[in-house]
Amino acid sequence: MSSLHDRHRAVSPDWLALYYKHPLEITHGEGRHVWDADGRRYLDFFGGILTTMTAHALPEVTKAVGEQAGRIIHSSTLYLNRPMVELAERVATLSGIPDARVFFTTSGTEANDTALLLATAYRRSNQILAMRNSYHGRSFSAVSITGNNAWSPTSLSPLQTLYVHGGVRTRGPYADLGDAEFIEACVADLEDLLGQTRTPAALIAEPIQGVGGFTSPPDGLYAAFRRVLERHGVLWISDEVQTGWGRTGEHFWGWQAHGQNGPPDILTFAKGIGNGMSIGGVVARADVMNCLDANSISTFGGSPVTMAAGLANLSYLLEHDLQGNARRVGGLLIERLRAIGAGSECVREVRGRGLMIGIELVKPGTDEAHPEAASAVLEAAREGGLLIGKGGGHNTSVLRIAPPLSLTITEAEEGAKVLAEALRSVG
Ligand code: PMP
Repeated sequence: MSSLHDRHRAVSPDWLALYYKHPLEITHGEGRHVWDADGRRYLDFFGGILTTMTAHALPEVTKAVGEQAGRIIHSSTLYLNRPMVELAERVATLSGIPDARVFFTTSGTEANDTALLLATAYRRSNQILAMRNSYHGRSFSAVSITGNNAWSPTSLSPLQTLYVHGGVRTRGPYADLGDAEFIEACVADLEDLLGQTRTPAALIAEPIQGVGGFTSPPDGLYAAFRRVLERHGVLWISDEVQTGWGRTGEHFWGWQAHGQNGPPDILTFAKGIGNGMSIGGVVARADVMNCLDANSISTFGGSPVTMAAGLANLSYLLEHDLQGNARRVGGLLIERLRAIGAGSECVREVRGRGLMIGIELVKPGTDEAHPEAASAVLEAAREGGLLIGKGGGHNTSVLRIAPPLSLTITEAEEGAKVLAEALRSVG
């Protein structure tokens, strides 16, 4: 294990940060559990956001992948491909976007890149509005719409990006405002910005900011933004890479929580749909999707094997009502964690929807981010057999919980106990 870590250092760039002082090598998984190279079992409260949407080693997905791989592993371009067409039809219907078309990619980054390509071509503008504290991926254009400099390694950009308020609720000039005043201030800021710039192509937003620490604007903000933007013809891109597929419990897509004005013009997805296989994609109205006037293909996007995984995974998710499970089990978990948080001086807030829960840590008696505590809790939880994540701007001080959507109540309670213990270790 340690020699693997040494080899990893030799082959990887310094900016590739791993979790834990002694990084974990995960060798296999089942359900909501994974095992490390020493045979130790962990309850996985973070795999859901990374890749594993339903469950580790889900037999239905494994079987579909094996059978498809045994038939043909091929590029999806140039020839017809039945699993891709079937998954596209299902995703188009589920998206809520009228007359929707789907284009498959291999990652969330590439999905957002494609959305930017479409929006800028459709609107003949390279101006993009993005949210402060956002994260949208790691390509040249995706980092240039990422409003969090811990994840945006260059300021050079093919786009002109303007960042709007509303991404982080808890800090910044509007932190002390109530919901209605906050919305009013952010909308006034947006109107002011639009008055001073050329017309942007689109605004891209995560319904709940993932890497930014599971923070979301108050209900009504995005709807108010959209009313303003529609007057200017600016498109709305909903980055559902973390919030899609029922994770937030009440809704299948994150946009629906902000959806007074209907579906977005463009929706991007990735991560969990393949349950670990690399699927990303863009859904857009036909007129937006078809605005490019040259070929723009992806060799591996939509490959039959990943599509077979996506179809099996999506069927399992819908047939077992995992969205309902996220609502029920997530609701209970948030309640438990709020009770635990109330007893800790370090916990500023427990927030989230469904199985997407953040615990923001601060230095006791202050409003100051506490990244040391977040790292300590991460380590202590691991010791207790629980894997969680962290995030939240530069001062990574929000614990992130996003288990596979099949999490049981017993497992939720088991994980909450470990977290309570881990939080006690930091006070
Ligand atoms: N958008 C969001 C909201 C994300 O959280 C991520 C990944 N953390 C991405 C885009 C990029 O996805 P990928 O890592 O698959 O390129």
